Amino acid sequence: MTAPRLEIDLAKLEHNAGTLVERLRGRGIGVTGVTKATLGSPEIARAMLRGGVQGLGDSRIENIQAMRDAQVSSPMTLIRSPMLSQAHRVVAHADVSFNTELAVITELSLAAQRAGLTHGIMLMVELGDLREGIMPDDLQDTVRAILRLPSILLKGIGTNLACRCGVTPDSRNMQELCSLACSLERTFGIAVDTVSGGNSANLNWVFSGADTGRINNLRLGEAILLGREPLHREPIPGLHLDAVILVAEVIESKTKPSQPRGIIAQSAFGDEPDVCNRGDVSQAILAIGLQDVDPSGLQMRPDVDVLGASSDHLIVETHGFRLAVGRELQFQLNYSALLRAMTSPFVARIMKNESPRPETATPLAATFAP
Ligand SMILES: *Cc1c(COP(=O)(O)O)cnc(C)c1O
Repeated sequence: MTAPRLEIDLAKLEHNAGTLVERLRGRGIGVTGVTKATLGSPEIARAMLRGGVQGLGDSRIENIQAMRDAQVSSPMTLIRSPMLSQAHRVVAHADVSFNTELAVITELSLAAQRAGLTHGIMLMVELGDLREGIMPDDLQDTVRAILRLPSILLKGIGTNLACRCGVTPDSRNMQELCSLACSLERTFGIAVDTVSGGNSANLNWVFSGADTGRINNLRLGEAILLGREPLHREPIPGLHLDAVILVAEVIESKTKPSQPRGIIAQSAFGDEPDVCNRGDVSQAILAIGLQDVDPSGLQMRPDVDVLGASSDHLIVETHGFRLAVGRELQFQLNYSALLRAMTSPFVARIMKNESPRPETATPLAATFAP
């Protein structure tokens, strides 16, 4: 079979999505399935939808367009603030977008008006992680301005934590988001339908039994794809950790010294190799490299260590056995390795256990419906 390749078990992904959807339903929280680490794979999107997610979210309009072109039928949310230059594309393909800038929302309003569409807006609020978000004190002014814009519908508010600075979702910041929703309703006499508390990093907070207040949506990617929560990368009970695995092929296998020979300067990627002389070792090269994967995010069997990587080579040492040329090795991946492998044109994707059942977006709250 072709290598390198990702083997993607769609039944396991559906199970992961379905298990999370079910557990969160009990807390009054709907799930948006996040596809951005999959390059907008229609097969993975459909598996998430069969698992019961109420809509799909992606940070790239190109991916949303690809899923639309493949006839994935679901409400679609652009979860990164649109580029001004892409306003037309965004209103044409996404039902809702996450926003923080009035200039962008104004442009979306113009584009939606011209296209005869209504575009939904979620306003993102900065609650400490210092990535995207309107400062809480500025939220009212922004809402006042967008309520005047034609062809724009304010769907709700949200926040994103644990991405730039690792700020943990907790009762304090979640309560702050809920209070902001209530105060917007009081001030403007509007309904804030959706209060989106965050991403996979919010799961520990939800499952701790905390009061979830008005939070009624989470956007989940990593937890569905890898079965782990991202704060401590612990497995989530009942989820598959191997829904996606990477397979690479051995192209060289030799006994080599562990110590390089010659004068040592920088390597191709600027690192100085950290070597200690362990005598001769059993070394193999896999035909995969930094173009295809983040090697530090590969989880191997215990008798294999990664020694280094360059653009196209992954060098491993094996203990107690030798890898024959042509043999394949399997790895589990972390989020960084998965993201790069999924978006490398050199890594094939093999879909396994595709369900014949068609997907339907679960029409839960009307909040994310177009
Ligand atoms: C990537 C992203 C998510 C999903 O994050 P996971 O950790 O994969 O669950 C949710 N919301 C926003 C805004 C994102 O950028």
